[in-house]
Amino acid sequence: MNLYEYQGKELFARHGLPVLPGQVAASPEEARDIAASIGGPVVIKAQVQAGGRGKAGGVKLAQNPDEALEKARAVLALEIKGLPVRRVLVTQAADIQRELYVSIVLDRSRKLPLIMLSAEGGVDIEEVARTAPEKIVRRHIGTGGLRPYQARELFQPILRDGKLVAQAADVLMRLWRVYNDGDCSLAEINPLIVTPDGRVIALDAKVSLDDNAAFRHREWGTWRDPEDETPGERLAREKGLSYVKLDGDIGCVVNGAGLAMATMDLVKHYGGEPANFLDIGGSSNPEKVTAALDIITGDANGVRAILFNIFGGITRCDDVANGIVTSLEKKPLDIPLVIRLTGTNEELAREILSANGLSATTQMDEAVRMVIGKAQEVTA
Ligand code: GDP
Ligand code: MN
Repeated sequence: MNLYEYQGKELFARHGLPVLPGQVAASPEEARDIAASIGGPVVIKAQVQAGGRGKAGGVKLAQNPDEALEKARAVLALEIKGLPVRRVLVTQAADIQRELYVSIVLDRSRKLPLIMLSAEGGVDIEEVARTAPEKIVRRHIGTGGLRPYQARELFQPILRDGKLVAQAADVLMRLWRVYNDGDCSLAEINPLIVTPDGRVIALDAKVSLDDNAAFRHREWGTWRDPEDETPGERLAREKGLSYVKLDGDIGCVVNGAGLAMATMDLVKHYGGEPANFLDIGGSSNPEKVTAALDIITGDANGVRAILFNIFGGITRCDDVANGIVTSLEKKPLDIPLVIRLTGTNEELAREILSANGLSATTQMDEAVRMVIGKAQEVTA
């Protein structure tokens, strides 16, 4: 899960990172009232999960509450990289002397957290990485964690001034705690600014949380924005299915992530395009099957045929068959369905299916070719 800037800054503030006071607003009037309570110039910042908001007109300075209202109105009317701006952060404006970049990100290839630091902050860091990679300092954090002297060493050549180095090193130590204690896969500050009066402040926050750790962070639930999910994504999350919508026309319901990947590969191999990745998981439960069909028929426009590919192990084929039958009784399908199943309780599954006018093959290859053929018939 990715956090919005205002959520990231809340998390930062909890860990004692220096951020400027601010509050999120959903209307121009709210923005005006927040600006009035902050006093002085404020910045109105579009809350969308996309970089480059500044360039897209999503970051605007306002001198007083009335101006804040006008600017908020303008920013709330924007769409940035296809994302509508539903909220703005109204925050105290800062004077900027320098803009740095600092982040901690999981380096999967080294299996270690990686600090990235650059004196060229405020700009698109991917651009710096492309054009001038030598301007980014990279340092892995070993299993012993990050020590204050290491943090100071990193900032010393960039900032030089002892007081600034001490503040920036403290920021990095706290960012490390945000990342490590908070189960993040990314914690980024861009820009980390130095003000003319010698303060170091996090002016932006970009945080990605590792969803695998959600079970030990109750507070994450309050950060989830239901409007960010499609109905299908929500249903998948609630029912414990892994679901990613894709652009193709063949809906795939599979048990196990590896088999799901193999199924998608095979669909591609035979010239088809999968409409989704959907893993109903290893456990056995007809309800999950019903949910899977609801997701595929409800969320995806342009699905022309559906393939079930089940390798029965802990997942029992009869449970899947029952799920399919129940689901079709409730809501008949108007597109072809191809079922492949093999393994635990396969015979029972076949009986259930045939009693309901359905059939299944045991061969994955055959099933994939069949479903592609049926999808093409539907198109023709
Ligand atoms: P992003 O473009 O989506 O990364 O949004 P940022 O929050 O990083 O803001 C983009 C740029 O706007 C920053 O790099 C700053 O140059 C500028 N900016 C943001 N807040 C302030 C502020 O309070 N004062 C000033 N002077 N500039 C700001
Ligand atoms: Mn930024």
